[in-house]
Amino acid sequence: MKSINHTIEHLKPSGIRKYFDLANSMEGVISLGIGEPDFNTPWHISNAAIESFQNGCTHYTANRGLMELREAICDYYRDRFHVSYDPAKETLVTVGGSEAVDLCFRTLINPGDEVIVLDPNYVAYEPSILMAGGAPVYIQLSQDNDFKLTPEDLANALSEKTKAIMLNFPSNPTGGTMSREDYEKLIPLFEESGIYIISDEIYAELLFDGEFCSPASFDSIKDQVLVINGFSKAFAMTGWRLGYLLCNAKLSSQLTKVHQFIIMSAPTAAQYAAIEALQNGLPDTEEMKKEYEQRRNLLCSRLNRMGLRTNVPHGTFYVFPDISSTGLTSDQFCVQLLEKQKVAVVPGTAFGEHGEGFVRISYATSLENIKEACDRIEAFLDEVRGPALVTTEEAVLIF
Ligand code: PMP
Repeated sequence: MKSINHTIEHLKPSGIRKYFDLANSMEGVISLGIGEPDFNTPWHISNAAIESFQNGCTHYTANRGLMELREAICDYYRDRFHVSYDPAKETLVTVGGSEAVDLCFRTLINPGDEVIVLDPNYVAYEPSILMAGGAPVYIQLSQDNDFKLTPEDLANALSEKTKAIMLNFPSNPTGGTMSREDYEKLIPLFEESGIYIISDEIYAELLFDGEFCSPASFDSIKDQVLVINGFSKAFAMTGWRLGYLLCNAKLSSQLTKVHQFIIMSAPTAAQYAAIEALQNGLPDTEEMKKEYEQRRNLLCSRLNRMGLRTNVPHGTFYVFPDISSTGLTSDQFCVQLLEKQKVAVVPGTAFGEHGEGFVRISYATSLENIKEACDRIEAFLDEVRGPALVTTEEAVLIF
């Protein structure tokens, strides 16, 4: 047989899927491994898709997506995040944030161009960069700094070959966020270098503390920013496969060219559902967020009390505890926890080399499951390490 594309051949499969599959093959497992809301899509949103079928809306839409949806997206970004885009020329509806990630790299990268990626980071970035012929350059994020990007780290990573930086705040897997003040320190470097800033804002609605800040809200760099967002997390719509990309008109027309040839147009019924989500779904998001916040608080305080140092994430539905005190690697921790106590979590190394010593725990599951999972994790820790030395009083302080 002839060889296939070498880059694809050497891509590692997602480290998340492996644990998901393993957990599914066992009885009685509590999975804290997956990255999707446990809520179903609110009914009025699903119903908008049903109505679109009843109205015969079963055809392709414009390549960029329905104009009514693009207008709703632009209204939403202006009202929620204070960033204005033109629905006709600067907005592209995609098949999930996933297509948007891929489109950005395909469109921006020439062979050998460097793309700065924060480590740990979302699993799809590195493969997408490699498939587009780019070279990822990593910045190690630190727990001590709440997994934020600093100007020093950015300055060290920039080179003549840097084409873009991939950002994702609030972050999967760390839950880290960047405030307006944090971004302000980076702006001079972004201006000077002229690099593209790809900002994956898929968790923007799931921010518990403070106000979400998009780098696109800084006028001096707005033209360099490509905003990625979608409906999966905010409106519990993972199965609908709908996202979008916002950027300047010149870039947007190039991105649309690629989208036109590989996708044509995003699913029509999902686009009608998305209009309903943006126009009437935000109260549902607020309800889901309250629930996530309650779960986050419980999980963080329990983990810290067990002696696993855990930063309280300001957003997303993940926590990223430091498990190095157990003396196990991330992978050993996950395999043994699954085998001994039937709790599935994901090793930090699935998100990059610097995820070693951490695991990602998703709290997109019921409070009841979280409580039971915490009891099991505690029993596991007692077995591998002995009971935690942290007193309740100290644990509250850490929290
Ligand atoms: N970006 C991040 C950071 C994610 O966590 C995910 C989903 N896990 C995506 C993008 C892709 O989401 P979707 O394609 O469902 O919009």
